[in-house]
Amino acid sequence: MTSTSPHKHSTQQLIAIAAQMIATKQTKSGVVADVGAAVVSTDGDVYTGVCVGTDSNTICAERTAIATMIGASQSYLVHTVVAVWKNEDGAIYVIPPCGHCRQFIADMHPDNITVTQVILSHDVVVPLSALLPYYDWWAKQPDCTSV
Ligand SMILES: [Zn+2]
Repeated sequence: MTSTSPHKHSTQQLIAIAAQMIATKQTKSGVVADVGAAVVSTDGDVYTGVCVGTDSNTICAERTAIATMIGASQSYLVHTVVAVWKNEDGAIYVIPPCGHCRQFIADMHPDNITVTQVILSHDVVVPLSALLPYYDWWAKQPDCTSV
């Protein structure tokens, strides 16, 4: 496993950084930037992103933040990830990564499953493996064609 650097930002600061990205815009075919995300590389650098949703496709804020990290640093290791949504009253909700994002992070680097810490609230942070316990589990089954 790759070693990781200490955090330069607290959990609360990362939640705030992700929340600052939110700038909800209703477009002709979807909603953009209603979710913001912050990811921390193993160097301790923070990269941000927003959700981009259209009628035909959606890319989550976590994945746009990770794409920014890769473009800027060529690093595929994600030390920490957080995504937040803000309601119309301005209340901030930390939201867990969707299944697509969980698998995406796991697929980015083989160490991410244990290295990546997922912020679920200001006081709950879990490794990606806790949210994706069977990400790489395949088991050959007995011949089931004759059942
Ligand atoms: Zn997602």
